[in-house]
This record gives sequence, structure tokens and C-alpha cells, in this order.
Amino acid sequence: MKIPFIDLKKQYDSIRDEIDPAIQNVIDSSAFVLGKAVMNFESDFAAAHNVKHCVAVSSGTDGNHLASWVLGIKNRDEMIIPANTFIATAWGAVLCGAVPVFADCHKDSYNIDPDKIEEKITARTKAVVAVHLYGQPADMDAIRKITEKHNLHLIEDAAQAHLAEYKGKKTGGLSDICSFSFYPGKNLGAFGEGGALTTGSDELAVKARMIRDHGSREKYFHELYGHNYRMEGIQGAVLGVKLKHLNYWTDCRRKVAEKYHEQLSDVEQIKLPAQMPYAKHVYHLYVIQTGRREELQKFLNDNEISTGLHYPVPLHLQKCFGHLGYKKGDFPVTETLAGNCLSLPMFPELNEDQIGYICDKIKLFFKS
Ligand SMILES: *Cc1c(COP(=O)(O)O)cnc(C)c1O
Repeated sequence: MKIPFIDLKKQYDSIRDEIDPAIQNVIDSSAFVLGKAVMNFESDFAAAHNVKHCVAVSSGTDGNHLASWVLGIKNRDEMIIPANTFIATAWGAVLCGAVPVFADCHKDSYNIDPDKIEEKITARTKAVVAVHLYGQPADMDAIRKITEKHNLHLIEDAAQAHLAEYKGKKTGGLSDICSFSFYPGKNLGAFGEGGALTTGSDELAVKARMIRDHGSREKYFHELYGHNYRMEGIQGAVLGVKLKHLNYWTDCRRKVAEKYHEQLSDVEQIKLPAQMPYAKHVYHLYVIQTGRREELQKFLNDNEISTGLHYPVPLHLQKCFGHLGYKKGDFPVTETLAGNCLSLPMFPELNEDQIGYICDKIKLFFKS
């Protein structure tokens, strides 16, 4: 049985009769950039996350940059971010001229460890970025306690955590400003690049809207420095259709995770992902840990099961950050995870037979 890591075609086939006319509608109206489809999506996405404003942008990476930009992060400021995340989180600091300062992650949540933040704060620190990695919210109350005490901005990176919850509250409204990604493989994926910022602040939302569109409110009148971070109309239309299915797809992901848990919990050689007591995990990824990662990945690959690594090299050990002076051993939890992590196939359409097949192969591997 051949099992892909994700299956975007299957999802498209299930909603083709809604998606195709929505795309055609954008083409017929020539609203290729921003426009009505994007505006409608913004209000639906904000409502789905119980947050006042949503500003659609051109990618999650651009959202990371814009979030720092609207908060006024600038030259030589410092932003504390987890060492265990995708590189784009760090670009949010770098593109504003700021320095990313890395912190280790928690051994069970895999998100930034609140106990490791305070020791990283200096006179230059301006913000903490809480990444809701793999679909599980970071411990926001513990993190906010620190950012309030030291008067720092708090940013969420929810690129992997659409509709996830922290103590019953949706991501996107748990900080000053939050960045989402709609990269095709994310829990809510466009048919190309896309992203969004959400915020409860009127002021930050207005600023984000202006910077997204060349620093202007009115065409050719530029009040602020800006850039072109606008979302395309077709992406707005696709995302608007898909958002209606996101609750269902999220339930499906959680059921897939439950089945993995049931069938793998007696395999002693692997550590399964933990849903923290404060969290509703939306399982963008299902990441297990094993000391025999390379062998297991090869064995699964030989059995036509695709897997992924999220992430094999932590940010503090990336070549591009060599000048920052970090070394191996600085963040033991993150480094162990980087060496042992293996992401199993995870998508809403993954069925019981496929899950059973994957789990049987994993069990077979550890018996041999
Ligand atoms: C995917 C991702 C991003 C970047 O989003 P793009 O839309 O691909 O630019 C940022 N942060 C995290 C944690 C991500 O997983």
C-alpha cells in the first residue's frame, strides 16, 4: 500500500464543485488582487478565530515580517524565538534588522519553554514569538506573564495551528498580533502562497493593512513605508470555500491522531506526541521520537510510506546563523528532538486501513 505524507488531490476532489465556481467567479470579475473574495475571507477567518481583525497577506513568511514591522521592531532589537521551529519564524526578526535570540523547547509540548525565556532577556529585547508548533498552542499564560513583567510584545506564529485552542480560546487572539500561513500543505491551504495576520488591536490592523499595500490608505498617497504583501483574489476565494470545511478536517486530523495513539502506545521504543492539558491540538504534524530514526524512516520508505523530518537542524545550528555564536549542546531538548523526530503521514483523509498499515509496519520494525 502506497501512502503519501499528505494528499492534496484527495481534498480537492472532495470539494471540487464548490472550488471551481469560486475561482471562476474571481476570473470573471477580474478581481485578481485583494477584492471581494479576500475581504469576505478576512471577516470569516477573524470570526472563526474569535478575533477582531484579519489582514490577509501573501504568505506566512510575509506575515512574520509584517507582524514585527507593525510592532516597530527595528535595527539591533532582539526577539526571543524557539530554536525548534521553521526558519520563517526567524525571518520575522531578521527582515526588520533585529537579532533572533533562541530559546530551548519544552520536552513534552515541543514549544518554547517558558522557564527558558527570562534568562534570554536583555535591555534590547522587544518581543517574544510563541510558535504553536505541529498544531499545539504554546503555554501562553506562562509566556504572557513574562512579557507583561518585562514590557515586551507578544507575537504568535500560528502557521501550523489554525483553529487550535489554548484553555478554550482560539489561536490568533492570544497575543498582540498573530501570523498564519496558508501554504498548500498547512491545515488550511491555498492553491499557491497565502498568509494572514490577526489582531485585536484597531491600530495594528490599520497599520498592517497600509504596509501590506505600499504604506497607503488611498492609492498613490503613501503615509508609511510599505511593501506589497497583498493576497491574490483566487487564493481568497479558495480559502473562503475551504474555511467552511476546516472544523470537519480538524476533527478528522484529531481522529487520525487518536488512532495512532491507540495503536502505537504500547511500542516502548517510541515517544508519542502529547496533548498538553491546556491545549486543543490540531495535529498539523504527528511527530514521534525514536533513537532509531534513520533506520525506521528507511524501513517505512521501503514499504512505500512517506514520512518527514520537522526539523532536522534546529535554528541555532543553521549555517546562516553561524555568526550568532551558538553551538551544539546549547539547547539539549531541541537537539534531541531534531535527532529523533519522525513525522508520520497526517492529513484529514487518511483512512483506518492506511493508519493500520502504517502502525503494523512500525510494530514490525521494532520487533525485528
Ligand atoms: C509554514 C510556516 C511559516 C511560513 O509560512 P509560508 O506561508 O510558507 O511562508 C512560518 N512559520 C511556521 C512555523 C511555519 O510552519
